[in-house]
Amino acid sequence: MKIFNTLTRRKEEFIPLEPGKVKMYVCGPTVYNFIHIGNARPMIVFDTVRRYFEYKGYEVNYVSNFTDVDDKIIKKAMEEGVESEVISRRYIEECKKDMAGMNVKPATVHPQATQEIEGMREMIQTLIDKGHAYAAADGTVYFRTGSFENYGKLSHKNLDELQSGFREIKVTGEEGKEDPSDFVLWKPKKEGEPYWDSAWCQGRPGWHIECSVMAKKYLGEQIDIHAGGEDLIFPHHENEIAQSEAANDKPFATYWMHNAFLNIDTNGHVQKMSKSLGNFFTVREISERYDLQVLRFFMLSAHYRSPLNFSADLMEASKNGLDRILTAAERLRDAGNIAIQRESVDGEEAMLPKEQLHEKAAWELASKFEKAMEDDFNTADAIAAVFELVKLSNSTVSDDSSKAYIDFMKKLLEKLCDVLGIFTERKAEALDEEIEAMIAARQQARKAKNFALADEIRGKLLEMGIVLEDTREGVKWKRV
Ligand code: AMP
Ligand code: ZN
Repeated sequence: MKIFNTLTRRKEEFIPLEPGKVKMYVCGPTVYNFIHIGNARPMIVFDTVRRYFEYKGYEVNYVSNFTDVDDKIIKKAMEEGVESEVISRRYIEECKKDMAGMNVKPATVHPQATQEIEGMREMIQTLIDKGHAYAAADGTVYFRTGSFENYGKLSHKNLDELQSGFREIKVTGEEGKEDPSDFVLWKPKKEGEPYWDSAWCQGRPGWHIECSVMAKKYLGEQIDIHAGGEDLIFPHHENEIAQSEAANDKPFATYWMHNAFLNIDTNGHVQKMSKSLGNFFTVREISERYDLQVLRFFMLSAHYRSPLNFSADLMEASKNGLDRILTAAERLRDAGNIAIQRESVDGEEAMLPKEQLHEKAAWELASKFEKAMEDDFNTADAIAAVFELVKLSNSTVSDDSSKAYIDFMKKLLEKLCDVLGIFTERKAEALDEEIEAMIAARQQARKAKNFALADEIRGKLLEMGIVLEDTREGVKWKRV
């Protein structure tokens, strides 16, 4: 299996640290709002990487954090007049719902920065003791980039150039730095901000130290794969390497994987989708128009290292493509049911000689799929192989096919789709009449002052993707 490693800028054979196991860390979102579909790209891409490893029989320890202490979270909390924790807890829950909708598996562990402060204080102290970090007069602790020989090895930047570049940009409040390229490990609290005690000052950790510490705690000092969006290469991942390798005296991650951006074309101007540019769609907004499986399929239709432009046309094309697969799976299920009935009368059916030939052709397509995935997770080519399989299935499976052949085809299609995280069954749409009946039952429960039952019905509707709104004209509902 070959992986493109940002560190060496080459595709390299994957050799795990421990045979049969993969230790993988993926930088997760900062939770101050609903995630947008740009944030969804690394989630979907690296979940697919994980699924492929699992398909190959590896045991994957997959760690992905939530950054739950950050300026943006604090700002939002102040705007709403609540504690930061209220904001982060809310958006972690919302993010998990979006992940479930996109069929992104929960990580083995989803650590939260605020729960790992002790580990951060320890690593910072180790770095100070080893001469890799220092505390300034105001209690800010900085990493001494000049003390780490390989600083710049991931982003292929040269420290001298970096230092002169930084010298041009003078940032106020950083007067305590020995060098402009040094970065923050711990910073003093400001009025009204969450803080923790430390030997240096009451304050909070810098962003980069969080990931070094959480990776170490849940995966160990050395890991196989570290991943995230390409904007994280510098400074975030470069700084993680400096911290982890300086503290642990071991190479941190063997392979560094980075997904390219999801862009959006606004009036002929192609830009990265981002919160700050305001040109984003949240996953939740997309879920109002499409099953999130479509979004997942769209993301995987391009190679993860290629930029991808979001557009309504491409989403429609993905919807149609996905539909072709789901229709083929449905036909297989129907044909399977007919074969079951026949078998119950005529006895077990073996595969016919011509079906054995088709079976061979199907296995060849499965190996085409694997070959694509082995080549740095080329999901675009892997999907092309799935389409070929769909074509083979459509042209060879009929109501007369043997049950053995139908079962084989169905299982193979399901297995390959599962690697991509695609369900082969259409979600049953709740019928309007069913919803109306439940709403009427809820109204009656409310009239009878049985509020527990009314709430229960509301909860059930929510699970079905229906939200209720009590208006002056009565209860209105919509699908989310
Ligand atoms: P953030 O919450 O900004 O730290 O981002 C969480 C993850 O989403 C990181 O891995 C980012 O690199 C990634 N990301 C943010 N915007 C995009 C985008 N437009 N396309 C692809 N990945 C993105
Ligand atoms: Zn990180």
